[in-house]
Amino acid sequence: MSAITMEPLHADTLLRVFQLVTTMLALATLGGAWHLKGERALWFWAGAFAAAALTQAARVAFIALDAPRTLWVVGHLGSPLSALMVLLGLRVYLGLPLRCRWPVLFTALACMGSFALTAWTGQFWPSLTLTLLAAAMLTMPAAHAALQAWRDQRGFPLGLLGLDLLLTAVVEVARGLAVSPLIAENRAELAQYNAVGLFAIIALLIGQALAMLLLLQDRALRQIERLIEIDVLTGLLNRRGFDERLRRLLKRGAPRPLLLAVLDVDHFKRINDTHGHAVGDAVLSGVGARLHEALRPLDLAVRLGGEEFAVIWLNPEAGGELRLGERLREVIGGQPFLTVAGPLAVTVSVGVAPATGPDEAPEALFSRADAALYEAKRGGRNRVVLAR
Ligand code: GH3
Ligand code: MG
Ligand code: MG
Repeated sequence: MSAITMEPLHADTLLRVFQLVTTMLALATLGGAWHLKGERALWFWAGAFAAAALTQAARVAFIALDAPRTLWVVGHLGSPLSALMVLLGLRVYLGLPLRCRWPVLFTALACMGSFALTAWTGQFWPSLTLTLLAAAMLTMPAAHAALQAWRDQRGFPLGLLGLDLLLTAVVEVARGLAVSPLIAENRAELAQYNAVGLFAIIALLIGQALAMLLLLQDRALRQIERLIEIDVLTGLLNRRGFDERLRRLLKRGAPRPLLLAVLDVDHFKRINDTHGHAVGDAVLSGVGARLHEALRPLDLAVRLGGEEFAVIWLNPEAGGELRLGERLREVIGGQPFLTVAGPLAVTVSVGVAPATGPDEAPEALFSRADAALYEAKRGGRNRVVLAR
């Protein structure tokens, strides 16, 4: 019976695995970037994997063609080039300013230094150490940005990516030092350290790709969540978004002064009946725009449905209930709406209710405001009524 002997992992074998993995990741990410045209970060990340795959391919080709040995170090350039692309892609993803001048210059210097060191010393380790340390220097700010965004509640995938990048930087530094005479005492030891480092890098690269995939999925989910809370005609929050926001605002521990107004366009049916549904739509859209413009950024305007709207003011001035309600009435009724059917004067009835405290259910607050609106209608319309 022959015993199965396990050979230690060989750096050359791992380099082939590395080439295969980065090529597959590059192709998959390029396909994704092509498919999701709006996602610019993906082009950078595809570039990161492609840089790793292409520099390895170039190295293999140079060796096969028996090109000068200095050119073989092209394989080392993959790490800083990839790290640069990951950093830029992350800045794009997070909406940060790209500020690429210094990282690009730094990468270019590291790449030129890599060739110069190899030509000068005739050895590969100085170039490998230099490029790995440079890659770590570029990976650190990327890891920092991702972890910072994760701490700012921008989702679990960013935490995963940040952690992966942090470990990548650590492995790059460790591998960079391990292949230098500082640590490795002979060629066999150097090859062994290099293999272990490569193995870790391959695993971390796959982790990076997975984290990036999760990031895109997370962003798509957030976009869907936002879209289902938006009213198509006016661009304001819809009823679903309103319920959710009001529930959250009232749930907060410390009572937060909050004022709710419910508005209903007066005799809106007549506009539809006289001028047609399209003109009715234009008026509703105009009402939405005027409400949006009249509010401070932290206040909320909502289209509850049909010709009914709501406004939530946060931290309103004490005793300002009636004044704020009147302002809404004025914003809508003060100027006619310019439509294809000519200028149309439109009025609204408004019911206003201040929240009584943190214990009040959203439904209770809403029904008080709605009852006030009903009273405004009964009282002759085009007026503001405060809830009791
Ligand atoms: P009131 O002063 O009592 O509120 O009278 P009103 O005519 O405004 O109220 P009513 O509830 O009788 O009519 C509301 C109309 O709003 C009926 C409906 O066809 C119309 N409507 C609802 N949603 C839309 C919409 O999205 N676009 C248009 N153009 N009309 C809508
Ligand atoms: Mg109505
Ligand atoms: Mg109405």
